[in-house]
Amino acid sequence: MAAWPTGLDAPPVRDDVLAPGAVIGILGGGQLGRMSALAAAALGYRCHIYCPERDSPAGQVTNLATVAAYEDEAALARFAAAVDVVTFEFENIPYETVRTLDDLVPLRPRAEVLRICQDRVLEKDFCNRLGIPTAPYAKVDSFDDLTRAVDDIGRPCVLKTARLGYDGKGQALIEADTDLEKAWRAMTGHAAAGLGILEGFVDFQLEISVIVARAADGTLGSYVPVENRHRDHILDRTLAPARIAPEVATRAEEIAGGLADGLALIGLLAVEMFVTEDGQVLVNELAPRPHNSGHWTIDACVTSQFEQFVRAVAGLPLGATVRHGDAEMQNLLGDEIARWPEIL
Ligand code: AMP
Repeated sequence: MAAWPTGLDAPPVRDDVLAPGAVIGILGGGQLGRMSALAAAALGYRCHIYCPERDSPAGQVTNLATVAAYEDEAALARFAAAVDVVTFEFENIPYETVRTLDDLVPLRPRAEVLRICQDRVLEKDFCNRLGIPTAPYAKVDSFDDLTRAVDDIGRPCVLKTARLGYDGKGQALIEADTDLEKAWRAMTGHAAAGLGILEGFVDFQLEISVIVARAADGTLGSYVPVENRHRDHILDRTLAPARIAPEVATRAEEIAGGLADGLALIGLLAVEMFVTEDGQVLVNELAPRPHNSGHWTIDACVTSQFEQFVRAVAGLPLGATVRHGDAEMQNLLGDEIARWPEIL
């Protein structure tokens, strides 16, 4: 074993740990990728952003970028050869893209995690297999499926596209007097429509999320549950910590950790959950990446979600998730961005 200049023995380094200077490939060029790339730079890593858009938010902060379609196999092969590990900053990346990369370069989280988290039906099947509750749901592939599912689940209920939906896009609330044919046409007519899912409407007290990291050695590191308020189905405000009973918080963290273990995740998992009036915690959605409800960790935690993400993907030990202050995050949507001088 090599001696360190101090005379101490160098600790053994696992071969799946990236040394500073290594290159982390990130699929997706959005703001979450940008903040991850900045955290990676602080730890001494370089990031290579792969996305179809020129001058992407993440691409602006790195000097390594591939601008190509997710289906471009030659570009993917060049990207794989240029990086030490690949991760992703959003989950609407074609599954075939990560399958292709999986044969060429270490992928964290693994491709199967993306496959499950891209599809609301697979996600809920996965939760239920682990004994983790969700709203009642049914897969709906046809109008007949929809009428049967509405009879089984009852109204009110929510029809969603199973895949590629976000921020309430491709969703319809089915109330007592809703015309089912109209709701079905609206969903199948949605640009990103795939097959659908019908969910029982949850009369929740509040919505929370937990962001948990899982390191390569299986260690878990969870941030406190936060409370999320939505406006028009889009995250508007996050309050950290969530105003919930300690046993509800513990349950939410256990759920997030159980899901990360069940997925054999290496990386970050954001778990969006509903808390009902009687204190039940139901999983709504999973995102295996940094999450908008975790921006507050930049200022209020010892380790931000972005540093934690990089640590997990790079094979480093996780950082402490201790919160050193309460925090509130306000999302500036649309024209609200013009308020930046006043907010500063
Ligand atoms: P989602 O795209 O699944 O995150 O849904 C966006 C928002 O719609 C959620 O944050 C909830 O406010 C609401 N929502 C989604 N699914 C349900 C449900 N089954 N019951 C009640 N509200 C829901």
